[in-house]
Amino acid sequence: MPEETFVIAGASLAGAKAAETLREEGFGGRVLLVGDEIERPYERPPLSKGFLLDKEAREKAHVHEADWYDKHDVELRVGTSVASIDRDAHQVRLSTKEPVSYDKLLLATGSSPRRLDVPGSKLQGIHYLRTMGDSATLKQALAHGGRRVVVAGAGWIGLETAAAAREYGNDVTIIDPEPAPLHAAVGPELGGMFAGLHRAHGVILRLDEGVAGFWGAGQVSAVVTSGGAEVPADVVIVGIGVRPNSALAEEAGLEVSDGILVDQSLRTSDPDIYAAGDVANAYNPLLGRRIRVEHWANALNGGPAAARAMLGQDVVYDRIPYFFSDQFDLGMEMSGAAAPGEYDEVVYRGDVPGREFIAFWLSAGRVVAGMNVNVWDVTGDVQALIRSGRPVDAARLADPGVPLAELL
Ligand SMILES: Cc1cc2nc3c(=O)[nH]c(=O)nc-3n(C[C@H](O)[C@H](O)[C@H](O)COP(=O)(O)OP(=O)(O)OC[C@H]3O[C@@H](n4cnc5c(N)ncnc54)[C@H](O)[C@@H]3O)c2cc1C
Repeated sequence: MPEETFVIAGASLAGAKAAETLREEGFGGRVLLVGDEIERPYERPPLSKGFLLDKEAREKAHVHEADWYDKHDVELRVGTSVASIDRDAHQVRLSTKEPVSYDKLLLATGSSPRRLDVPGSKLQGIHYLRTMGDSATLKQALAHGGRRVVVAGAGWIGLETAAAAREYGNDVTIIDPEPAPLHAAVGPELGGMFAGLHRAHGVILRLDEGVAGFWGAGQVSAVVTSGGAEVPADVVIVGIGVRPNSALAEEAGLEVSDGILVDQSLRTSDPDIYAAGDVANAYNPLLGRRIRVEHWANALNGGPAAARAMLGQDVVYDRIPYFFSDQFDLGMEMSGAAAPGEYDEVVYRGDVPGREFIAFWLSAGRVVAGMNVNVWDVTGDVQALIRSGRPVDAARLADPGVPLAELL
């Protein structure tokens, strides 16, 4: 039998981890990992934390050592994109015009920042953050301190970059149309906790107000809010969410709706094409619905799961969504989904004013999400509570004297 070829489009965490798993599982065919960035695969979390703060070296962010790809016979093509897919011919065409036949194809094309399309949005000094290059440029803009920084969007990227900007000694204002930071991700209760954290570190929050435009002559000098206020700005950071990079899949006629639709084995509507990471909108049997997860752990675990499925293994990808963040002296991990409307109560265990606690989101008495703030090594227990799906006693859940494992 001729050697099989597996092509992976997108050379970031999901793609690189999929390639690694293919080799670990003994796949002996050709593995072609194609990425349109010039950098070899790297992880993005440091770009708004350690790397941005100059506390972590660039090299530490890479998924593999530079020689790993050759050593494992993974053909890494950087600076190259997969331009199109011909599903009938089982062939992709690269941006170099080269056609490559595939037996199985993994789409790990990730996501891109949503752009703010308002007057003045092309002015100099307006930053987006997705790549190593973006982070290096932003670092230069922030590192001297003493500048007026306006952050559009109080999501995870907005809050983390606001914290970094503050730590460099800049004046920082965050503008967001929602009533609390992270409102869509965690609801007003925990959103309020993050607002308190940032205010305690001198960040000004302008909530219930959007960005209507930017002023400046070449270089941005002010942000205009939806309320008509002008907020002076030397540097603007826009962090208003991401969009899945699903155009390639859509053009190939795959089913796409807020990401590439995949089943619980991460298989698309074409049995020889899979999708993983930020771009995949996957059916999660534990949640009983589709979910697109834009977090590190989903790329870390989803890439390998897709690789196993491509090898014909029986894969059920039912991970609980997991996320972590560091801002100032606060470190947290969150498991589960807790958007407003998905829960009816928040129960706290520990010291909330001292920011050392666990928050649980409950729906009909069942834990649907948990966030540990400056408390560690509890993710296993928190996820077990979510996974059990059983009602819990809220008073015992709130009592730090009752081990979480006893509630299961
Ligand atoms: C600044 C920052 C900080 C973050 N911090 C955290 C955090 O603290 N915790 C957390 O859980 N998550 C965090 N995330 C999210 C996490 O990094 C993403 O979920 C993760 O990067 C998703 O990995 P991925 O491989 O699916 O996609 P991506 O990382 O988006 O990579 C996709 C790659 O595919 C390339 N590509 C796209 N189309 C093509 C094509 N046609 N051909 C070839 N290549 C293509 C893209 O350029 C990109 O290199 C952060 C993200 C950013 C940007």
